[in-house]
Amino acid sequence: MGDDPASRVYVNNKKKACEELGIYSEEYALAADTSEDELLELIDKLNGKKEISGILVQLPLPQHISEQNVINAINPKKDVDAFHPVNVGKIMTGNFDFVPCTPAGVMAPITQSRPAPRGKDCVVVGRSNIVGKPQAMLLLHQNGTVTICHSRTKDLAEKTKKADILVAAVGIPNFITGDMIKEGAVVIDVGINRLADKKLVGDVDFESAQTVAGAITPVPGGVGPMTIAMLMKNTIKAAEINR
Ligand code: NDP
Repeated sequence: MGDDPASRVYVNNKKKACEELGIYSEEYALAADTSEDELLELIDKLNGKKEISGILVQLPLPQHISEQNVINAINPKKDVDAFHPVNVGKIMTGNFDFVPCTPAGVMAPITQSRPAPRGKDCVVVGRSNIVGKPQAMLLLHQNGTVTICHSRTKDLAEKTKKADILVAAVGIPNFITGDMIKEGAVVIDVGINRLADKKLVGDVDFESAQTVAGAITPVPGGVGPMTIAMLMKNTIKAAEINR
């Protein structure tokens, strides 16, 4: 909804990924002043539409719309973002159909190219419902020892410096610097921040961090494309579930 430039880029990238994989997609670009009732009616229609296996509402929504009402309206079996309370609850128990896309995109490089989080000290900076909290749960399910940090955390650097696996999901450009990182740590940068000069940077100061980290993901690249790959994976799973 509306004309948020970042949302436009994200939606275009998701549509492109669908095209590349041969997944049929429909886009509904609604005006910023569309009412909540109209949006809920559209979701209801798509919930019942056979050709559609997955529904994604690009956030953020305009202020007059309740994001929670909208998320609650999506059929949990078509909720490929895994934001519906039913899917959030399933993530807590570890018995889930859909993994939230960004945290899943973070786990892929950790588990595929490095020793598993089992027994490792994992620190997640950020506790949002869409990234930080589910991220912590996924690391916990893989037997990591997890610390969640946020804006009220005292002595943040003391915590981040203990991390074997450090995930930054803060939304502040270059926030985590090399002196906050343990030698050899795996550093995953979720942040996507656009500076005044239009340059995209993460939440980790790549220059200083790369001299200390054992492995680090770049921005752009890194978690962004992995998030879209995980969305496609969830969509295929949704097609199988709904068949
Ligand atoms: P939110 O703004 O919802 O959450 C930010 C979190 O960071 C909050 O929990 C906040 O704490 C914490 N925080 C803020 N300031 C500090 C501080 N000084 N010290 C410690 N913690 C702090 O952001 P999101 O989780 O939605 O996104 C985080 C970043 O990830 C953004 O850059 C976003 O663009 C990016 N993103 C990237 C995606 C991708 O596909 N790669 C997908 C989604 C997001 P508190 O709760 O106390 O306020």
